[in-house]
Amino acid sequence: MANDIETVLTRAEELYRDLSFGSVQSWKEKTGGMAVGYLPIYVPCELFHAQGVLPVGIMGGGDGLEIIRGDAYYQSYICHIPRSTIELGLNGNLDCLDGMIFPAICDVIRNLSGMWKLQFPEKLSRYFDVPQNFDAEVGGRFYRRELEELSSDLAQRGARAYDAEALRSSIAVYNENRKLVREAYRLRRESPWKVRTAELYLVLRAGLVLPVEEFTAMLRDYLDAVSNDDTRRPMDQARVVLAGSFCEQPPLGLIKTLERSGCYIVDDDLVQIYRWLRNDIPLEGDPLENLVRAFLDDSIESPTRYVGDGVKGQDLVQRVEQSRAEGVLFCAPSFCDPALLDQPMATRAADEAGVPWTAFKYAENTGQFQVIREQAGTFADSIKLWSDA
Ligand code: SF4
Repeated sequence: MANDIETVLTRAEELYRDLSFGSVQSWKEKTGGMAVGYLPIYVPCELFHAQGVLPVGIMGGGDGLEIIRGDAYYQSYICHIPRSTIELGLNGNLDCLDGMIFPAICDVIRNLSGMWKLQFPEKLSRYFDVPQNFDAEVGGRFYRRELEELSSDLAQRGARAYDAEALRSSIAVYNENRKLVREAYRLRRESPWKVRTAELYLVLRAGLVLPVEEFTAMLRDYLDAVSNDDTRRPMDQARVVLAGSFCEQPPLGLIKTLERSGCYIVDDDLVQIYRWLRNDIPLEGDPLENLVRAFLDDSIESPTRYVGDGVKGQDLVQRVEQSRAEGVLFCAPSFCDPALLDQPMATRAADEAGVPWTAFKYAENTGQFQVIREQAGTFADSIKLWSDA
């Protein structure tokens, strides 16, 4: 079983580290289809799939890219992902993409979409606005129009035209994938020593550059292999929720460091696209409307999403309870406004619920983890001491 795990992880890490997006190029050569990149956090991949387009998740350059020109586009007090994304574009790493979609997350991504239009005028470049009003008659109508315009943009660039039956089939394919991702998170909650977060993260990241069917198969292989591996034994680690890493992602080394410092990560915000919708999308009825209603009614709480009736931070407390976590690691990218502006409300909710927490920041290319290791290790130790008291 260890060999099976290694085989999956070796392939996943290759895909994760491949900043030339060889798998996307191969897919295009094989199928003749279009590939379109998207920035975090959420785009309706089902629509791309239904029109024969490969959606490719772009998460910046990570720690494998030297930023030379990208820094000239952003002030020093802006997070890292936009500068590495620009660098990838200027270097030609993203030439295999026929376009880029910039979902509404924050002003930085909005600005990046404008820069992209100027830098790559020949490519499809679209700011994908999403509603912050969740009334079907207001936000729903707005969002449906956004989807229709996106679909028509794709078709004008050579994708297949919109077809309701094709979208229904694509929703079914993505529902299967969502189910498996939920199963992965469930298994990690139950047995975090079996599903290590650094491994699960690699598989999820690999999925961003693969057709969904291949990603589902890879994830299934991984889950089968770890489920059948009896050599992995529980250790005395603190169960924590990792909060705040929903857009720019921490380096892989940081995730490994947290696990080695004595933490079992039992819930997280990493690579959220697979879990943005909490449940399957219904297959009956108008599939486009189903996409709309899923976004309005079934999206996760996110700092990038308006919370009208609820209280910011309550969702985090619920996740702590559901995952039987003993603490929270607030782990946000430096200068990430959505994460850091929400953090005081989230920490207050944690305090009121008696949930211990600690906080630190990172950049996607952070290379030194010793200080974080000491902080997370001390946090885990103190949890263990308190729970023993
Ligand atoms: S890391 Fe935060 S500030 Fe930067 S682009 Fe993402 S959401 Fe915006």
